[in-house]
Amino acid sequence: MEQVKCLIIGSGPAGYTAAIYAARADLKPVMYEGMQPGGQLTITTEVENFPGYPKGVTGPEMMIEFKEQAMRFGTDVRSGLVTNVDFSKRPFKAEADDGKTILADTVIIATGATAKWLGLESEKKYMGQGVSGCATCDGFFYRGKDVAIVGGGDTAAEEATYLAKLCKKVYMIHRRDALRASKAMQHKVMNTANIEMVWNSVPEEVLGDDGGVTGVRVRNVVTSESRDLDVWGFFVAIGHQPNTDIFRGQVELDEMGYVKTIPGSTKTSVEGVFACGDVQDHYYRQAVTAAGTGCMAAIEAERFLGN
Ligand code: NAP
Repeated sequence: MEQVKCLIIGSGPAGYTAAIYAARADLKPVMYEGMQPGGQLTITTEVENFPGYPKGVTGPEMMIEFKEQAMRFGTDVRSGLVTNVDFSKRPFKAEADDGKTILADTVIIATGATAKWLGLESEKKYMGQGVSGCATCDGFFYRGKDVAIVGGGDTAAEEATYLAKLCKKVYMIHRRDALRASKAMQHKVMNTANIEMVWNSVPEEVLGDDGGVTGVRVRNVVTSESRDLDVWGFFVAIGHQPNTDIFRGQVELDEMGYVKTIPGSTKTSVEGVFACGDVQDHYYRQAVTAAGTGCMAAIEAERFLGN
């Protein structure tokens, strides 16, 4: 049993930024890094849109620097998972897989969301070499080239129209003959000249060579015919899963499972528990916005303790 002022659950830009601010405010934060230390950025390659890195930086490198900065001010970073929480009374209780039970005056949830993938071997093989889960992050690398995106929801529609502004042609592959996206987004997709819909189709294999992705083989689920699309980039936009299983019944979640926060803050339904980053944001999902909310969570935790 251990008593701490501030427990941060999860790493990534949100968690590490919360740690930097909480440590500098003398909250002596303890962080459990979780399943994927550094979060989703550790599976991306080049990051060019995070301010302060004019020459770009790789996602894993950037997360190492975030972590070092958090540790420089005394964050106790632990590898491992928090497996169970009890927010019914203060101090809050958390059990970790290292056998420790933590009593915390404040908790910052920064467990992120996990992108859903198709599960193809070739998708894994070319991850970061043409396969991407984020058009805003990686679209720039495919300027003037042909790309494909899979998915039929709002994210896929939004990312397809974003890519269409940069790329020569965008194939939008969807497994049915109607999009799930909102009518407004459907309208945008249908009225973008360089988006070609590939209906009733599923990717069978991502094609590539030593230089990365060269194409994608799609199968029409109605006719069973396969064809190859020549593309340089393959974007997967079939949804995200917020990592909130252990918080179910402890804080309010929305209908998609994201932690609900009071708009303009990181406050959750439980006073003293804050949430930052993608675990409470399915809209922006950017490293810089995650870092921004991480800062907010630490400042709110500090003020909560001060009161
Ligand atoms: P989503 O609505 O769950 O859509 C996922 C899409 O991927 C669906 O079209 C689904 O096909 C397809 N899909 C799922 N698994 C697949 C698989 N294994 N193989 C092939 N296709 C697969 O996810 P989302 O687009 O990320 O949106 C999540 C939520 O955020 C939604 O509520 C959305 O409205 C919201 N959102 C809003 C905005 C906005 O307002 N600007 C922007 C982005 C997201 P089926 O259609 O056949 O199920």
